[in-house]
Amino acid sequence: MDMHHFDEETYILANRIVDYALDRLRQDPPPLDGTESPESLLPKFKGTITKEGLGAQKAFDFYENIVSMATISTDHPRYLSFVPNAPTNAASLFDLVVSASSVYGGTWLEGAGVVAAENQALRFISDMIGFNEKSGGVFVSGGTAANLSALIAARFKFRQDHPEHERSRLAIMCAPSAHSSIRQAMRAMDVDIVEVAGDEDGRLTGDHLIEAFKELNDEEKSLVFCVVASAGATNNGYVDELNTVGKFCNKNNLWFHVDGAYGGAAILCDKTKPLFKGVELADTFIVDPHKWLFSPFDCAALIYKDPTIARLAHSQHAEYLDVVTETSEWNPSDYAHHLTRRARGLPLWFSLVLHGTDAYRDSISHCMEVTYNAVNIINNSENCETVIDPQLSVILFRRKGWDKEQYYAWSQHMLDIEYAFVVPTTYKGETVLRFCIINPNTTADDIQLIIDSLEN
Ligand SMILES: *Cc1c(COP(=O)(O)O)cnc(C)c1O
Repeated sequence: MDMHHFDEETYILANRIVDYALDRLRQDPPPLDGTESPESLLPKFKGTITKEGLGAQKAFDFYENIVSMATISTDHPRYLSFVPNAPTNAASLFDLVVSASSVYGGTWLEGAGVVAAENQALRFISDMIGFNEKSGGVFVSGGTAANLSALIAARFKFRQDHPEHERSRLAIMCAPSAHSSIRQAMRAMDVDIVEVAGDEDGRLTGDHLIEAFKELNDEEKSLVFCVVASAGATNNGYVDELNTVGKFCNKNNLWFHVDGAYGGAAILCDKTKPLFKGVELADTFIVDPHKWLFSPFDCAALIYKDPTIARLAHSQHAEYLDVVTETSEWNPSDYAHHLTRRARGLPLWFSLVLHGTDAYRDSISHCMEVTYNAVNIINNSENCETVIDPQLSVILFRRKGWDKEQYYAWSQHMLDIEYAFVVPTTYKGETVLRFCIINPNTTADDIQLIIDSLEN
């Protein structure tokens, strides 16, 4: 098969791949598939990358029979671990178009159309959190990259305002429930974390923040440049008290970063919207469309209230880049720690244009209804009970009388029989089970089936 000309063999492969993709999208539910140990999986790859190449059919056979089988389908309705992925069909299909079109999403010069389209989708997110026309941002690979880029901009602003701290080791404040990627970003940036004990559910509140700030000495206070709040902590789904935390930050000139990677989309649901009061006070906000905004991997939206700071913090300068930095209006490359980028916001944009925003609101609200039903199913069962009263769509519950080994054994068995993917977590030191419901195809029946399997 010719590598770069579309010959007859390419055509045959194209049909096979498109058929495969369509069949995968059509399966309802898709096979859960499973995982495989390195000892068993890796030997199968022997002789796959060769000097002469295996040819189209063998190469794709290998993907279909080996690779995909050892890969869990994160969009299975009973995949309820971590945060599932539930892209709309329109978004997944459009991702094929993005791949086939060699789109460069870094600069206006090269990608005016796609940059403008992505910015429309970002505008929708800015509107949803009450940011004004001046705000703007960029789609990056995930919440981890978005958090890092937001915090780099925050520190840049602080050092601009406080040149005396050009070389000081600075600090941020957050609750222990802040996502691990915040700690990771702080390690990368060589910044300290001042942990603020949250309330009994682990939420950061204004009162807790004020208390913790008071306990710092003057020098420590002067080194804090940012407060990070979670709008949907990953482990229990709780939203920090954004309003009081935001007011404290605004008053004290501290950058206020809101991490809504998992939960941010729930601001679209009428029942959960009140939890997000105060999000408009943020300087930066992130949400992962690959979580609860139904985009394929990988896609995180990062929004700055004032993008000019971000641009100063992130633009790269090089002789060969002058042509874009000097001639263009809005270059997504300038707004995060990256340069070349896939226009990964396009599937979301296309699906939003196609379905309209009400469909998004309704699908998110539907997940909340299933969550409320699931709580009843759990608490009406003989042997299970919830451990938290969910704020968003994360449920923590225990199987009465079980120890850690029993949870792990059950979880492994559920995956082995390709029935469900539900892994234990720990909450306040106890091993418990966790559901994260962001797939609109997850039904109360799915939950009932899983709870039934825990009864004996
Ligand atoms: C998932 C998550 C992240 C990290 O996002 P990735 O897309 O996995 O990098 C950060 N913060 C929160 C609250 C999350 O739920």
